[in-house]
Amino acid sequence: MSRTLNGNSLSQGYAVGKVFKYVPYSADFVRMRIRKDQVTENIQAFLAARERASKELENIISASDKETASVFQAHMMMLTDPEIESEVISQIESGKCFSWAVSDVFIKYEETLSHSSDESIKERINDMKDIEARIIRCANQKKENRLTDLEDNTIIIASMLYPSDTATMDHSRISGILTENGGMTSHTAIIARSYGIPAISGINGLLKVIKTGDEVAIDAVAGKVFVHPAPELKADIQLKAEALAKVRKDSSGIIGVPTVTLDGTRIDMLANIGTSSDSELDFVRNVDGIGLLRTEFLYMQSPTFPSEQQQFEAYRKVLEHAGTNPVSFRTIDIGGDKVLKYWKLPEELNPSMGLRSLRLCFAYPEVFKTQLRALLRSSVHGNLQIMFPMVGTLEDFQRALTILEQCRKELDQAGVPYSDSVKTGVMIEIPSAAIIADKLAEIADFASIGTNDLVQYTLAVDRMNTDIDSYYQQFNPSVLMLVERAVKAFQAAGKSICVCGEMAGTQYGAAILTGLGLRSLSMDRSRLESIRNLMCRCTIESLSSMAQQALKCSSQDEVLRIVSQSLPQ
Ligand code: PEP
Ligand code: MG
Repeated sequence: MSRTLNGNSLSQGYAVGKVFKYVPYSADFVRMRIRKDQVTENIQAFLAARERASKELENIISASDKETASVFQAHMMMLTDPEIESEVISQIESGKCFSWAVSDVFIKYEETLSHSSDESIKERINDMKDIEARIIRCANQKKENRLTDLEDNTIIIASMLYPSDTATMDHSRISGILTENGGMTSHTAIIARSYGIPAISGINGLLKVIKTGDEVAIDAVAGKVFVHPAPELKADIQLKAEALAKVRKDSSGIIGVPTVTLDGTRIDMLANIGTSSDSELDFVRNVDGIGLLRTEFLYMQSPTFPSEQQQFEAYRKVLEHAGTNPVSFRTIDIGGDKVLKYWKLPEELNPSMGLRSLRLCFAYPEVFKTQLRALLRSSVHGNLQIMFPMVGTLEDFQRALTILEQCRKELDQAGVPYSDSVKTGVMIEIPSAAIIADKLAEIADFASIGTNDLVQYTLAVDRMNTDIDSYYQQFNPSVLMLVERAVKAFQAAGKSICVCGEMAGTQYGAAILTGLGLRSLSMDRSRLESIRNLMCRCTIESLSSMAQQALKCSSQDEVLRIVSQSLPQ
């Protein structure tokens, strides 16, 4: 029976494969009291085990890339820490066998770490446990339980993985990692991201529901695991995995080569991202910019509100990777399906239409201003644009701009520099914003159409409710009319407009949107190459005439028929 499990994406990507359930080595030992005359031999056994452990770590470090090696250099430092050594020795001298002594000393450190309020420090407990298990295993002359002899396309499931499990596994055969525990900043997550292995954690009931040999499909962008997936779903995930692998392997299709239609119209190809690791950000210079950076991801991955400084550093990192390319940072869009564990908000009957997104920012100005100050401060490090989500009225946008202005003044008073050329834009995702786009275009520098929500609100269809999928019609003529209206308004005002909803990353969507006048499309990076290929095979003339026909249609079905007949084979 097929089933879907949910978790948090630690490393984005897609995969389909067979499951292998991994049980890491557990440092079992008997707590033995030793006699005085056994103290020396126990100290020697500890030192010898530590020596073997250090050899293992040297091998791992020399075989690893820079990022992974640095994790194990830190392990090496802890392993050889003189303070730990003297504590273990004094425990042995007090009459404990060496395994017991090692365990007690490490437990003490683990407990200290567990009291930290900083989640990333707590994650280091796993590193301590990893080192402890390594010493005790080496003392017992046991080999590492390596994740090596695996079939191709294996998906590892485990309660939790130690960093050394992840680092020493045979990456070429592992296409995904699923765990019940482990956070975004865990080293396992860092290593998985550095190898580009999709990983999801926090999956409740994982080990109960899935067993070795089961087939699963992973969408580690949405944090979903499909157990025994249906053939269409499996094919879809496989396609996404292949597309992403291709983009990662060869983003040269996009590097420095503008996307131009057959009749010479330039289309800007931009990417949508959440928060990303350094290696994931390497591609950012190779696209025409970031059309949507969902900043709420940073909040969702953090155990508490990220401070102004933490945000500043995260934003600066993206800007530095992007060079001169524009990056549109969307201010926090919390609410609806995006909740923060640490921000308890009143329950609402209709959260998608409730106190969410920009409205929430207005209700909690300090949260909003902290983010705006961080954004302004980072603006000196690149080409930063600020984009406000869920704008429903002109006043919404004006109010956001006023608060931004207050933040500028506060930074002025504190003598903190920021760029004076930061562009401010509006997301068009509530139908009212599309209808008054001409008014918004007078004061906005740019707009980005969020088709995901625009469709939801235009047709009053909950985008999260798969039972009413057939009502969620991205190609309904009413949606196309709103898009056209917004495009015309912004173009008439000489302001740029882009689409960053999912529609831009589909073949039909990209075709109709460019036909409606858009010259800038922002999408998941896995879609960039195929949409670029499509654009290079079309003429704007034919796309425009197709869009004009579509605008006259009475139903989505009619629109889809026209698009399918017009696309190049
Ligand atoms: C949208 O609504 O189209 C959009 C891009 O924003 P999100 O999907 O994050 O709501
Ligand atoms: Mg939206």
